[in-house]
Amino acid sequence: MKTKMFFLLLLAACITVQAQTPVKPTYVNMIDEIMKGVPAYWRTTLNDLERGVGYIRKGTVERVCLSAGGRPVYRIFYGKPNDVKNTANLSSSMGAGNARFYADKSAPDYRPTLFLVGAVHAGELEGTAALMNLLAILETGNDLSGKSYPFITACAEKMNFIIIPIANPDGRARMPLPSMMDLDFESFRYLGQGTWKDGTLTGYPSCKQVTPIKDASDFLGSYFNDDGVNMMHDYFFTNPCAETKAVLQTAETFAPDFTVLFHGGSNNKPHMAGSGYLFQSTKAKINAFQQFIADEYKDIDFSLGGEGVNDRSNVSFNLTTAISHVCGEPAITFESNQGLNYFDEKQPWLVKYTYDEIYQHHMISLEGLCKFVLNPPQLVEQNERRR
Ligand SMILES: [Zn+2]
Repeated sequence: MKTKMFFLLLLAACITVQAQTPVKPTYVNMIDEIMKGVPAYWRTTLNDLERGVGYIRKGTVERVCLSAGGRPVYRIFYGKPNDVKNTANLSSSMGAGNARFYADKSAPDYRPTLFLVGAVHAGELEGTAALMNLLAILETGNDLSGKSYPFITACAEKMNFIIIPIANPDGRARMPLPSMMDLDFESFRYLGQGTWKDGTLTGYPSCKQVTPIKDASDFLGSYFNDDGVNMMHDYFFTNPCAETKAVLQTAETFAPDFTVLFHGGSNNKPHMAGSGYLFQSTKAKINAFQQFIADEYKDIDFSLGGEGVNDRSNVSFNLTTAISHVCGEPAITFESNQGLNYFDEKQPWLVKYTYDEIYQHHMISLEGLCKFVLNPPQLVEQNERRR
């Protein structure tokens, strides 16, 4: 009993110490210095997006919803919509024994479709920077630094792109920087996941212990919309926020062949976060994509490692999984390097990349995605009939 009391007192003391030391992030003294290092092509603000969509002529811009804070979420479509003769949702079509009742992709003029989503977590802006450049390429052939991408331009003649550059504009409005580049770990966590009411960091993954987190939070990090919802772990089946619903409805309506949610993964090399609870055919395609990228870019030593598809019991059913379950096709969480000033002896694989390197990783991956969906490997699809 005495021992139990001792531990309770110790726990209380620890909580008290923690409560007395709210975080004071150092980034506020570094903003001018950080901004000097941002390349001109790295455009990720809400104003950049407003200006960017204003220039779009070849694509079609739609405001698919307003965020919890009343900010528009933009979706841009390039290509020619497919007529997939949808007569049922995926669940019902699989119940009927054939996914073609949901999306029949057998027409000779069918165009493979990529669905690309940035800033679900709006402090993770590496993908948004790449997608803003991809929009410029699809409009003009050149990215925002004037570099041409003839391969992507040629692919665009044969396929469709659906792009949501910033899925969480509320979080973006709360993020004062264009990236996490050069930040210390504490500032990175502060701007990403925010603080509890006592001013201590909510941290990761502990920020997921409360959802929505708004009422438990003092500073709401850029992870969340203005209602404190982390879209990755929304109430998908019962009460998704408008932003999550817009992403899921896009996947359901367009039946994209491959979806990527672009995230930032600290100072890890670019990789695919773990995905669980997928159909066998989806797993096979994701595994094939991972292998394809490793083979295709062997000469420049680029691959997308990470856990990828696995069956670990602690992998959550998240937005990425939900997308696969409304459209029946692969969706992945792409985790970029974020260029933090952060290293850890226990994680010797951590590395700090530059803006240019991070941008390159995305452009290689986008090129690889185009190649993959235009020439998908022939996989033996297993019967996944659901009744
Ligand atoms: Zn994320």
